[in-house]
Amino acid sequence: MAKRRILAGGIAQESHSFNPVPTGRSWFNIRAGREAVEGARGSNSVLGGIVDAAEASGAEVIVPVLFRAQSGGPVEEAVFADARDILCDAARRGDFDAIVLPLHGGMLTPSLEDPEGALMAALRAIVGDDVPMTAGFDLHAHVTPEILARCDLLAGYLTNPHADQGSTGRRATRAALDMLEGRLRPALAAVHLPMLTLGHDRTDEEPLLSLHRRAREAVERGAAHDVSIFNAQQFLDVRGLGQWVLAYGNGTPPDDVALELARTLWDRRRELIGTYPSLEEQLDRAARGTPRPLVLGDQGDRVAGGSPGDGTHVLRALLARGDLPASAVPVVDAEAVRACLAAGPGREVTLTVGGRFSRVAPPTEVTGVVVAAGTSAEVVYDGPADAGYRAALGAHAVLRAGKVHVVLTDQPYSYLDPGYFRAMGVDPAQLGIVVTRSGYHFTLNYAAIGECVTVDTPGMTSYRVAELPFTVARPFFPLDDIEVTPRLHARGSGVP
Ligand SMILES: [Zn+2]
Repeated sequence: MAKRRILAGGIAQESHSFNPVPTGRSWFNIRAGREAVEGARGSNSVLGGIVDAAEASGAEVIVPVLFRAQSGGPVEEAVFADARDILCDAARRGDFDAIVLPLHGGMLTPSLEDPEGALMAALRAIVGDDVPMTAGFDLHAHVTPEILARCDLLAGYLTNPHADQGSTGRRATRAALDMLEGRLRPALAAVHLPMLTLGHDRTDEEPLLSLHRRAREAVERGAAHDVSIFNAQQFLDVRGLGQWVLAYGNGTPPDDVALELARTLWDRRRELIGTYPSLEEQLDRAARGTPRPLVLGDQGDRVAGGSPGDGTHVLRALLARGDLPASAVPVVDAEAVRACLAAGPGREVTLTVGGRFSRVAPPTEVTGVVVAAGTSAEVVYDGPADAGYRAALGAHAVLRAGKVHVVLTDQPYSYLDPGYFRAMGVDPAQLGIVVTRSGYHFTLNYAAIGECVTVDTPGMTSYRVAELPFTVARPFFPLDDIEVTPRLHARGSGVP
């Protein structure tokens, strides 16, 4: 038999409805062909898992293109169209047996609130219904009826912070291969819940810990073939925002599994609303001295959640206090980077940085010495999440003001991995305070160098959702006091 071929690719980004900064082409890491496959092989990424599972069964992966970017504002229309068209051109060539899509889910463009569903519809229009098409999505995906109608099996991460990107890609790929071999006929039982998780949604803590345990047990005892629980990006003002429980059976939809998990999720919804310690209290701790560096997640301005990353709330607090150890805080400001590059390392400059899009604290004047500056750099992730992943940094500079290292970039980054700081010449392990633009995921990759604490700061990605201008997505819990009886979603029934 000829070697099986898997078509994999697309465009992966998580959007934030209220971030006014569009995500343009230069923000994407774009890989294709052999380079994409070889770069992914062995890495803990969804594409890495696709390559692993395919090659383990003697199949080959072809990647026409994979665009991948950090979370941010909606993706520019032309960028999405480009990725879609490249993938569709490859689909028209027809030299493959199945499609497996390594996407985030939860992207927006100015005109589309479900680009992933549109991409899948475009692919289906070309390949028809008989070619297996599966996908590996982030647990924070916005799942839609369109996606569920087009995709034979949608596998989501089972961990938050996310550590199972690779195994998600393997689940999606094995499902496609099993379908090709006639061993699997995915039958979906799905439940949608109009609610958000806001703060207590780690999968290694209750209530999600036991929910995922029960999902795993259902798969292990054969009651379901694959189960995912999607917790949805919280900052999408789109129709049908909320949680999805997806349980796939082989031939028969495992209705009971999906319903039981969804009922529990709904019943325990109040437990999913969390609170965070204050910034001041953590800075007080740092001032007294902590055994290991304090790695602070800036909850209100998380690029990992789609925020612009130019917030100055934490920077101002660090500059205002004289009793703190050495620190590093990232701020996006292309103009400030240009000024540092023009001045050059070793020169003192006075700049006004940040606060252009994240409006909870104003632009802030900083006088400091440029200690590093460059037009590009490469980040290599330590992991464990996405270990080995290589990301390109654009123009950047580090401005040292007293003990504060202001890490300036021309684009937002989430600083999920200590590699970001090292790529710009700052060793986070040598500091007392390190600020990241993430709320969960940084805790995995910084665990080796410090104590990770997410602090309650104001901003676009704060979980105080009542402060955000939601309209389309409402009603949903907890903004609206609604009563819901979890029920099975009928495929093809439109928006839930
Ligand atoms: Zn996520």
